[in-house]
Amino acid sequence: MLNIYLASPRGFCSGVRRAVGIVEDCLKDYGAPIYVLHEIVHNRHVVSDLERQGVVFVESLDDADITRPLIFSAHGVSETVVKKAQDMGFKTLIDATCPLVAKVHRQIRKYAQEKLNIVVIGKSEHPEIIGTVGQIPNYKQVRVIKKIEDIASLPFDKESPIGFVTQTTLSVSDTKELICELQQKYPKLSALKKDDICYATTNRQAAVRALAQECRVVVILGSKNSSNSKQLQNVALQSGASKAFLIDDKSEFPWDCLQAEDSLGISAGASAPEYLVQELLTELQNRYENIKVHDVIIATENITFKH
Ligand code: SF4
Repeated sequence: MLNIYLASPRGFCSGVRRAVGIVEDCLKDYGAPIYVLHEIVHNRHVVSDLERQGVVFVESLDDADITRPLIFSAHGVSETVVKKAQDMGFKTLIDATCPLVAKVHRQIRKYAQEKLNIVVIGKSEHPEIIGTVGQIPNYKQVRVIKKIEDIASLPFDKESPIGFVTQTTLSVSDTKELICELQQKYPKLSALKKDDICYATTNRQAAVRALAQECRVVVILGSKNSSNSKQLQNVALQSGASKAFLIDDKSEFPWDCLQAEDSLGISAGASAPEYLVQELLTELQNRYENIKVHDVIIATENITFKH
């Protein structure tokens, strides 16, 4: 008997649903090809499903055709990129930035207007952070840090007021710790402000924490470049799972790891479509005579973003 513990919520969040919906609507309205700057969301299957329908993903504006619609991805882009696209004369520019990322953009612009020193917590190379810092392109008093050790290298005066924002897909517990340390060094850190980790990241991490109490092996469906999926793998390991795998689909499933196990935890990152979970479940049902599925529900989500 194999007990499967299925995390809920899992998979698509409202920001991803909105961004993919924007691309699909655009295809209906304008026909192919449609250009998207960067992957619309970080998932290999979502990207290749859309490519098959005529979407072209580009890493540079110069690779897109200005006579065709161009969409900015869910991660958001810098002001400079928007301005360059406008100057190049793109006829139709569509912004699929998640509203929760756009909120962080407004916050960092506000800090800059108030002339605060600004700390951005996240991965400097991630498109979301590039877009967030890019909201204030000429502002000098801003630094990106990723881990507690980076706090020591911040050049700001200890008594200066500091504003901070975070990437939306970080580890909830690690970020809490980092903000506490930051507060120790900078007592005037904006006290009322919380991290910007979104509801979807928070709920998916909590559900995986619950899974890891039940099973030694946890599998996360998601792509390797998906920050929130990667965090789910880390959370599983930090919460008691002895093995946690991040796989794109059932073809990467580590069957050997199940040989001595009677349970398996499954979740999916915020950019992974549900059909990948269902395909894996079908494969497990084909291989095991006896399977019992347990839903591990930690929250019900009813947030939708219009597009
Ligand atoms: S993970 Fe959060 S911030 Fe990112 S697209 Fe989804 S809802 Fe928006």
